[in-house]
Amino acid sequence: EEFVLDVRSMKKYFPIKQGFMKKTVGFVRAVDDVHIQIRPGETLGLVGESGCGKTTLGRCVLRAIEPTSGTTLFQNRQGEVKDVMKLNNHELRAIRRDMQLIFQDPYSSLNPRMTVLSIIAEPLICNGMARGDALKERVMELMEMVGLNSRHLERYPHAFSGGQRQRIGIARALATNPKFIVCDEAVSALDVSVQAQIINLLQDLQEKLHLSYLFISHDLGVIQHISNRVGVMYVGKMVETAATKELFKNPQHPYTEALLSAKPMPDPRKKSNRIILAGEVANPAKPPSGCYFHPRCPYAQDICKSQAPEWKQVGEGHYSACHFAGELQLQGAVAQ
Ligand code: SF4
Repeated sequence: EEFVLDVRSMKKYFPIKQGFMKKTVGFVRAVDDVHIQIRPGETLGLVGESGCGKTTLGRCVLRAIEPTSGTTLFQNRQGEVKDVMKLNNHELRAIRRDMQLIFQDPYSSLNPRMTVLSIIAEPLICNGMARGDALKERVMELMEMVGLNSRHLERYPHAFSGGQRQRIGIARALATNPKFIVCDEAVSALDVSVQAQIINLLQDLQEKLHLSYLFISHDLGVIQHISNRVGVMYVGKMVETAATKELFKNPQHPYTEALLSAKPMPDPRKKSNRIILAGEVANPAKPPSGCYFHPRCPYAQDICKSQAPEWKQVGEGHYSACHFAGELQLQGAVAQ
């Protein structure tokens, strides 16, 4: 099968240093042996509680931070497959045109002293992709593409609303004509109505420009709306992946079931089947033995304490890391 992105055995361990000598006394396993694949034109949603490693994974995939180990095979615009982890600085700069990142906070990610023109033009100038009149024209084209008034070129970020600022961030990410974008909590800082507009924009752009997204969010509603497939992370590990509909209807990991049960009910008169998990999210510096979820899992058995579950296929494109995947009667999200 054809993939834009094929991530294998991705690991990011942050050393824990202690004392005067700054001795390494352990590691925070922020991302622990994760595999993901994204097809052309597809959105893979990545969900999990804060601190589960999804943001770190998104950064590692692009090598925006250096992973501890792992490979990212990426097919660039020319159709060549490259291992992003093996590229030198020069090659990395070239491939970054094809892979971009959109951040959560449109307020802090834009330089307040730069005009919209210079913000959007910057990646074009850095990559030597346009200059002079052509540069200005390209910036105006990008502004129109994201629904901004292209006459507002000389304005500063503070003159725009939150939603408009996120549009500026998107225009900047699109400037180099990428084919893959990591959207990291890209709509989380926005009001719900503005969120919907930005999500629609991202979907329109995806279709028009044939983009693939890795869409990171803690918000299941947003993930359900935008993703073709979903990956659920818990304490640095991927615990389940499936097509979106399948995952919401037929979860095969107890953690996914618990997450889904916490999704706000569309109809407040209906009874919530919310599962309240015991205990705290595991500490990635000192993960529990066996299955990391076992101290909180309502279905845990003895084997869960001693043995880490394998990644099991439970259906077409449906995988779960649970000893009892496929055997438990788990409850999906309540139909909307
Ligand atoms: Fe729960 Fe055991 Fe499955 Fe882990 S392996 S999710 S503890 S049932």
